[in-house]
Amino acid sequence: MSGVLRVNPIACDGRGICAELFPERITLDDWGYPIIDPGPIPASLEAHARRAVAGCPTLALRLERAAAVRALERVTSAEDVGATVAAARSGTGS
Ligand code: SF4
Repeated sequence: MSGVLRVNPIACDGRGICAELFPERITLDDWGYPIIDPGPIPASLEAHARRAVAGCPTLALRLERAAAVRALERVTSAEDVGATVAAARSGTGS
């Protein structure tokens, strides 16, 4: 499975355990919050990614399937187009 890491910034407490467990893809900002490499996780690093997800004490980190993420992005884009068309029809669009 090819996956991507996502962090819920609301749930994250910024202690940086994930960066310790998966330094190949997670670094910390000046306040200790994770900066996640947005690229897909190769199979060779998946075990490390899963270990970081399992080690997150607030369940803020998750590994999503790349195909599911792409599908969601397409839906979001379609919704954006729909919202833009609706706004244009109602005269409230820019
Ligand atoms: S381990 Fe979880 S709560 Fe801690 S910094 Fe990483 S994502 Fe945030």
